[in-house]
Amino acid sequence: MLLVKKVNEVRIKIGHKVYRYGRINYLPKKYAGKEVIILTQEESSELKRLRIIKKICEYILNSHNGRRMFNIVSRTWNPVSGCYHDCKYCWARKYALQKLRHTKRYSKGFIPRLNMEEFKVKFNEGLVFVTDMGDLFGSWVKKSWILKVINYTKKFPNTLFLYLTKNPRKYHEFIEEFPENAILGATIETNDDNLYLKHFISKAPLPSDRYRAMAELDWKYKFIAIEPILDFNLKTFVKWIREIDPFMVYVGYDNYNNKLPEPPMGKTAKLINELSSFTLVIKKTIRPAWNEGMLKYLPGDKELTHKL
Ligand code: SF4
Repeated sequence: MLLVKKVNEVRIKIGHKVYRYGRINYLPKKYAGKEVIILTQEESSELKRLRIIKKICEYILNSHNGRRMFNIVSRTWNPVSGCYHDCKYCWARKYALQKLRHTKRYSKGFIPRLNMEEFKVKFNEGLVFVTDMGDLFGSWVKKSWILKVINYTKKFPNTLFLYLTKNPRKYHEFIEEFPENAILGATIETNDDNLYLKHFISKAPLPSDRYRAMAELDWKYKFIAIEPILDFNLKTFVKWIREIDPFMVYVGYDNYNNKLPEPPMGKTAKLINELSSFTLVIKKTIRPAWNEGMLKYLPGDKELTHKL
């Protein structure tokens, strides 16, 4: 930290201790008497990135209730679409097979494909959700497709690209390729593999595989989506997320009435409280489980309503 004594005359101060006096070539008058931080070019671009992330987080936190996954992003981008994970709650597949069934992209079904026309779009800052209509890191996706996508994002260093997968083990193969503006996310709806299997939630790798892959992933901006949340063991789930060490976690219930094995709202409140002690938690749709007695949460349970 530099403390500007007069114009151009600075003292290097760390905490309360002044270490050295000196002069710098140019400093506008308005900084005289103030503390300033002088950054290297490297530090400055890091700060810019952090500012963008902070801006996004503020935006998320200020957005209203009943939020869905994609309202935090400036835009979505689907250079690859389609998916074979076959999740029970998949809205994208339904959307593709119903509303978009006559489009070129989905006329043959929700089949994975590379969409060449998407490599003409330009991005200018903000946050881009990459592939919300599929899983770019699904085991079936060709390496060349993934590299094409990653290389294209390198053209836009001021934009943040958010990836979300249910096969995060595949991130490891590309870790040297990702630029610094990549946020690597994984959906982990629960820590309970048995529950996952019992209810045929998805053909994707089991939650425990995803947890291990994310915990072993050496990346600065990791993100976890606990959405749609499924019942869990509090202690284990918190331990998993702590080990993964994401900068942000989403928590939200299913938005599409899929009657999933959901945790009671009080249990989710406890999870949110625990996670909030070490990471940024974004609360999405938070409500009682579909099969939970609504009466329990009518006005009166002020303590719980407050927590959420
Ligand atoms: S991973 Fe996403 S796109 Fe693929 S089936 Fe599951 S919810 Fe749908």
